[in-house]
Amino acid sequence: MCESVSTVRESSIVELLQLPIERIHGVGSVRAKAFSALGVESVYDLLTYYPRRYIDRTRQSPLVEAALDQEILVLGLLSDVSSRRLRGGKVMVEAKLSDGHRRCKLVFFNQPWRQRQLESVREVAVFGKLQSFRSQFQMTNPIVDTVGDRTGVIVPIYPMSEKAHISTWDVHRAIKTVFSDPSFSIFDPVPKDVIERFNLLDRDSAYRYVHLAETLDQAKAARQRLIFDELFRLQLTLVARKARYLRESRGVTHEVSPYACKKAERVSLVGAFISSLPFPLTKAQERVVSEIARDMEGPAPMHRLVQGDVGSGKTLVALVSMLFSVQSGMQAALLAPTEVLAEQHFLSLSKYLKDFEVKDQSTYSLFQGSEKRISVGLLKGSLGAKRKSVVEGVRSGEIDIVVGTHALLSEGVSFRSLGLVVVDEQHRFGVDQRAVLRARDRQGEGRDPDTLVMTATPIPRTAAMTVYGDLDVSVVDQLPPGRTPIKTIWLSGDTKSAYEHLLEEVGAGGQGYVVCPLVEGSDKVVAKSAVMEFERLKEGPLRGVRVGLMHGQMSADEKDRVMEAFRCHEIDVLVATTVIEVGVDVPNATMMVIEDADRFGIAQLHQLRGRVGRGKKESFCYLLSNSDKSQAEERLRALERSTDGFFLAEKDLELRGEGTIFGTRQRGNNDLKLASLVRDRDMVPKTREVAEAVISSDPTLFRAPQLKEEIRELFKDEDVRYLFMG
Ligand code: ADP
Ligand code: MG
Repeated sequence: MCESVSTVRESSIVELLQLPIERIHGVGSVRAKAFSALGVESVYDLLTYYPRRYIDRTRQSPLVEAALDQEILVLGLLSDVSSRRLRGGKVMVEAKLSDGHRRCKLVFFNQPWRQRQLESVREVAVFGKLQSFRSQFQMTNPIVDTVGDRTGVIVPIYPMSEKAHISTWDVHRAIKTVFSDPSFSIFDPVPKDVIERFNLLDRDSAYRYVHLAETLDQAKAARQRLIFDELFRLQLTLVARKARYLRESRGVTHEVSPYACKKAERVSLVGAFISSLPFPLTKAQERVVSEIARDMEGPAPMHRLVQGDVGSGKTLVALVSMLFSVQSGMQAALLAPTEVLAEQHFLSLSKYLKDFEVKDQSTYSLFQGSEKRISVGLLKGSLGAKRKSVVEGVRSGEIDIVVGTHALLSEGVSFRSLGLVVVDEQHRFGVDQRAVLRARDRQGEGRDPDTLVMTATPIPRTAAMTVYGDLDVSVVDQLPPGRTPIKTIWLSGDTKSAYEHLLEEVGAGGQGYVVCPLVEGSDKVVAKSAVMEFERLKEGPLRGVRVGLMHGQMSADEKDRVMEAFRCHEIDVLVATTVIEVGVDVPNATMMVIEDADRFGIAQLHQLRGRVGRGKKESFCYLLSNSDKSQAEERLRALERSTDGFFLAEKDLELRGEGTIFGTRQRGNNDLKLASLVRDRDMVPKTREVAEAVISSDPTLFRAPQLKEEIRELFKDEDVRYLFMG
């Protein structure tokens, strides 16, 4: 490719990353610039610029078989390109496309540059919706890929921005040039036995065939191999991170054993607490508590994720875990994603714990060693003068459990002895795990407290393994008994009945929420539209009932006041933006109306809906929408049909892909270009298993230096770079 060397030289991915694309014969500075607009700068970028699809020339006659209103891909010849100016000055470009059997008219509005583009090519692949116009096939504004004079049965089609000064064919040609160099080959750092065991292509062939396949099967095998690599690298980093926690940190050991103590003379705090509850723990809660207890008892720091649907009783599980710390003479911290939720947690913990005592361990106490009330503190930004006393209480150990937003750990708060950090990582409000970890490093006696992450957004197992793969996972997969599932009703068109039902419930002593439409724009814009909606409802559909308003632009104090009024039933209906999505717990609220529900995602709707159905009475959720978008329809149908968060999470993943899952946790930190957590879900546990085997015998990849280098280059993340240091 670059120099003419006669012997084969195996390049590593790192070398290909460092090789600028201009080094390819035929790619000069002009073309390099065009490539750069596609994000392709190096030879590696080029090789991982994967085809969007393949056309099998032996199987082309779509126009004969095609159904109207379907999106189809047609490979054919262009002719009769013309353009004219419409009334109003817009330009329309037309062309004819023939696939050898039938013809179809292509129409482009407002794309004057098409004329020249289409005149310069003949063989094209066209993708668009097939329609009929004056009894002729027609496609309007389809995607056009120039196929060029490419030979071969399988034609790869590359993703192109329509205006990029480069064609799918230029990409193809550059790749062909790379591989036609007889001295060029790509090194395979994955152990041979793994390759054999999973029946994978070698890496060099995989990169060749993903671009230059002769059959579709070949392309498929190539993709499988490359998908394996992507998932394998990711699992290696996750497993290595987990191994490093264990290797490098000194944890704290806790006094657990809630149940055994029942028989003993002195019942443990946790034992006493659990038997004081008006209900038994569910089997799922018991199982998760014992998984946590096992971790907390041991000397290695716990890193555990607790997944559970809304209302499954995670908060209680977290509380029991915090009591393990407290009964061991240490403190616990609970990090909430928002102030409203911190407040909520604070109230419910205080209520649960009001009758419980613990040995006083605090530094300056006159009563050290005697029993004292368990003390729960709240630390949040808007605390004013009270803040100082809470910070002091945390430092002296007078406060046993402190609840706060994640500012809690970043603002120089120090603990007397922190045993456990619980991170309530709710949907969309991901607290950056690493920030927490860094902050913790500063704490106490140089030991790492245990960490428990709670998430109310259930995610499918394979996705959890990918996103939270550095954590152990527990699942609270059971709801407390006696819940009546929330009845969900999707209304489109006439939505009056939803408000009528709401008024009825209020008349019968119930309460409810109205969730405002999701509007785009700044917090200010959102708040303004919420205020308007509030006014409209108060004067219209909800006239005569006590209506409250809550949105994100209100001060924390105002929000607290409204929330408190709603809790004490001084407000019947709370009109709110999605600020109520997290954790709000008012069991008397049995009605929810979500306006413009089609604008929300599945996970968000499920979270919102979880605010009702928290008491004994049957609850209802109305989804109002006027959308005819089929994806929205599928989402709303799914919510009508099911209240199972795991089912909905699978559905969400299917409909929206994995982008949303990676969201907060792995920003810019994944190189999954081909792999799909839906389609390739079977591959995830396999790569996990291999990664575990590799890391357990070679924790820093000392024996696989190329693999190590490639991971460090591809994950542009300090933390990952550091992972594999010797
Ligand atoms: P999550 O945090 O998972 O959404 P919570 O911990 O807030 O769920 O629990 C929801 C409601 O269920 C709370 O009112 C709680 O008191 C109640 N609850 C929790 N565990 C049980 C149980 N084992 N039996 C009956 N009710 C329970
Ligand atoms: Mg909760």
